[in-house]
Amino acid sequence: MSELSRRQFLKSGLASSLLLFNGCSLWPQRSTAKAHVIIVGGGFGGATAAKYLRLFSPNLKITLIEPKSRYLACPGSNGVFAGITSLEQLSTDYQHLRQRHRINLISDSVSSIKPQQRQVELSGGNRLSYDRLILSPGIAFRWDTIDGYSQSLSEQFPHAWQAGQQTLLLNDQLQNLPDNGTVLICPPADPYRCPPGPYERASLMAYWLKRHKPRAKILILDPKRSFSKQALFESGWKQHYGYGTANSLIEWHSLADNPIVALDAAGKTVITAFGDRCRGDVINLIPPQTAGSIALDSGLADQSGWCPVNPISSESSISRFIHVIGDAAYFNPIPKSAFAANSEAKMCALALSCLFNETELPSPSWINTCYSLITADQAISVSHSYRLSEARSLAKAQISGGVSSKTDHESLTLEAGYAQAAYRQLLEDSFY
Ligand SMILES: Cc1cc2nc3c(=O)[nH]c(=O)nc-3n(C[C@H](O)[C@H](O)[C@H](O)COP(=O)(O)OP(=O)(O)OC[C@H]3O[C@@H](n4cnc5c(N)ncnc54)[C@H](O)[C@@H]3O)c2cc1C
Repeated sequence: MSELSRRQFLKSGLASSLLLFNGCSLWPQRSTAKAHVIIVGGGFGGATAAKYLRLFSPNLKITLIEPKSRYLACPGSNGVFAGITSLEQLSTDYQHLRQRHRINLISDSVSSIKPQQRQVELSGGNRLSYDRLILSPGIAFRWDTIDGYSQSLSEQFPHAWQAGQQTLLLNDQLQNLPDNGTVLICPPADPYRCPPGPYERASLMAYWLKRHKPRAKILILDPKRSFSKQALFESGWKQHYGYGTANSLIEWHSLADNPIVALDAAGKTVITAFGDRCRGDVINLIPPQTAGSIALDSGLADQSGWCPVNPISSESSISRFIHVIGDAAYFNPIPKSAFAANSEAKMCALALSCLFNETELPSPSWINTCYSLITADQAISVSHSYRLSEARSLAKAQISGGVSSKTDHESLTLEAGYAQAAYRQLLEDSFY
């Protein structure tokens, strides 16, 4: 590396942040043996990190550890409730990562991390050593926050916040709802995976109910005072589901001052802090969340339950040589979404390859775009890009993105088409 480019690298945010955390111990690695990067979790974050690391650094040894042979994506999973999506359509495998990008795939889960030895231990008993570890384990649920609710009761009161059996279970309950029955959707407080998800879910359930059980009702019992894309959702609900009238299919209630604290499972009733009770024929209880268990158990989360990182490199603020991306990491104000996980993964891959290749890191930026369906063929969106502020923390870039500016029929229909295209492109970019 020439003196000039080395100086440029050192001036760049990446160098200062990495050196700040790692001292100079990085530099001796550069021309020695092939570095080994282990990635834990093959979701949007982990798959993208594996692929882009390979594209940026053809000679690295890259191992992806994921227990499932097929990944079931959550984006699009609310479409199951409208009858417009099947689980099969949400499923993808890892053969392109393995064959096209030469990723060493291990079908197992990581049971523990030994940061001192820079090793991970697998459930199958093997140990693997890494130079750098990227963790993208997604979320875990905080089962202890609603009295009377538990993981086993989620078989009766599904959260459907991880796509799969839970989605099918909730859909089954929706289909068997009494004609004039009530569905309760109980979202968690911020931050959680996919902030607009509960409201898209209400929209697509209402889409189905309108056609099959028009006397039914969905009550959203929300611990927040407001929610993502609220004005756009409410406008769509007025247009399609009678929102604001006595016969509305959807009602939204803010319980910010009186949140749900307990579940009476036998009575199919949720109970608020002041003792108010609300019965539902179907209860979609979405518990508060934390970083995935492996991150929590390895002590990589702080008291918030999420993993603090240096945004430039995604390196953990708690443990050196470990990088955390996706839902598990604290990248506030970037929301927890598949698009954001994909963007964080690319920045992390770029930072690591600049580090291994001793090249300059361009000024980092991140992007999030989130489409939500209001009906089977109408959508709304929000999009923002993020940069480092002068104080070197993450901030929304000025004059970037925003929410859908038009709500006429034609514009929302066009947006539904863009949503499909964006999702296909995201999947392609992450797994192919
Ligand atoms: C209903 C719903 C709708 C959504 N819609 C959208 C949308 O429209 N657009 C959008 O951008 N986002 C959407 N999201 C959010 C999106 O699904 C997540 O933000 C995204 O999946 C995060 O990616 P991730 O890689 O961090 O975690 P995940 O996708 O959860 O992947 C984590 C992976 O890690 C693996 N893993 C966990 N622990 C271990 C271990 N110990 N060892 C090895 N592997 C492990 C898991 O098996 C899993 O495959 C939605 C979410 C929900 C619930």
